[in-house]
Amino acid sequence: MPATTVRCTREGCTQAATYKIAALWSDGAFSELKTYAYACADHLGDNFRDAEQRRQEYVPSRGEKLEEIGIYRYEQGKRDRLLQRLWGLEENYRS
Ligand SMILES: [Zn+2]
Repeated sequence: MPATTVRCTREGCTQAATYKIAALWSDGAFSELKTYAYACADHLGDNFRDAEQRRQEYVPSRGEKLEEIGIYRYEQGKRDRLLQRLWGLEENYRS
């Protein structure tokens, strides 16, 4: 079965995703990476800022915790917990 290529989520962009933009969500017992966007190198900044905005508009319910938005190096088929977080890149784009 051929793997489907995950693409940049920017409208009109057809490039394969290089980055995953996500925030760690937790309800105290369970946690997961909540994906906001995928991005190619060209749209990382735009998609990151959009994601930050949506993150700020989100109101967590009681017991829920949503961490700040992070940038991860996206690798097809790799589990979320194994993705490398790119702290240096985030600093460049954080508003
Ligand atoms: Zn793109």
